[in-house]
Amino acid sequence: MANYAYRDKERKHIILASEALEEDRYKFFYCPNPLCNSKLFICAVDGSRKAHFRATKSAYKHIANCPYANSSVVFDDNKFNQSNFLFENAIQNLLVKNNSKSAMSVSKSSSCDKHTNYTLRTIKQIYSMCKQFPPNYSYGNEKIGRMILDDRTAYCYPKGVFGFKIIESCVKGRFYDNDKNEIYLVAPIANPNYHFILSIPDINLYRKIRNMVFENKDKFIIAAGDWKASNLGYGYFETTIYTDKQISILN
Ligand SMILES: [Zn+2]
Repeated sequence: MANYAYRDKERKHIILASEALEEDRYKFFYCPNPLCNSKLFICAVDGSRKAHFRATKSAYKHIANCPYANSSVVFDDNKFNQSNFLFENAIQNLLVKNNSKSAMSVSKSSSCDKHTNYTLRTIKQIYSMCKQFPPNYSYGNEKIGRMILDDRTAYCYPKGVFGFKIIESCVKGRFYDNDKNEIYLVAPIANPNYHFILSIPDINLYRKIRNMVFENKDKFIIAAGDWKASNLGYGYFETTIYTDKQISILN
């Protein structure tokens, strides 16, 4: 499911679901994932405004491992207040063990308009938002391509991944080291030329995350961190994992 797609195979001409509603329902569009050769058609529930693109023809399904085949990328833009979203703050909050205090102060200050004004908070929420806007679009204070490393945005990271970012990653080969309390991931999925080291000092948290990754070795793993160059050399980056809020499995 996608909120946007492309008119052309080269992925130069973006079309939003709301725009496609005006067009021929039998016309097909190309998946946001540049490696996917599915054919997407516009779908709207009861002609409502919540239109989206889907691979409805069985002969032209998403390729295996296409994130847009996945329900994890569903994102309801209307639920969240974009103007309150500060990407670095959101990632920093994921790195803090207990931020109930700051969450309380936020809800207090905005108590008069509590019906709306949810800001994206969890890694899954931020991830699905990133997947539903093109890389050069902005959400809140930041461009999508600067928030997430995936197959669409790899061109934004020619020198590597530094600072607060989310990675869409997977496991390849040896993925943990019990002596170092480290988990190893690679990204982006289709062309995984970057290696990511999750360093997890808390032994219980390390075991929990290792087991979770072990049970989901064939799935996509998203991780948020403050990435720095590793001393292993070019293409290797590391972050410390402080909480399980920094990592999530896509189903
Ligand atoms: Zn696809």
